[in-house]
Amino acid sequence: MAGDWGASCATGLAIVLGGEFHDRLGVCTAPHCDRVYVDVSRNGTRRFCGTACQNRVKTAAFRARNRDS
Ligand SMILES: [Zn+2]
Repeated sequence: MAGDWGASCATGLAIVLGGEFHDRLGVCTAPHCDRVYVDVSRNGTRRFCGTACQNRVKTAAFRARNRDS
């Protein structure tokens, strides 16, 4: 699987260097994660490196909300 990761990483880098997504490079906003991602979504609202972090933060927010009620 290391080969797959390297390949997708190189593809992302090529896209960034191509210029089209030069303003779409971001760092994951999830706690304890500093992975860099390329936001290829249409409206550029991506905040996480992947769905794993997205779900982790969503779950944490959900728990935080319910804690007070
Ligand atoms: Zn992340």
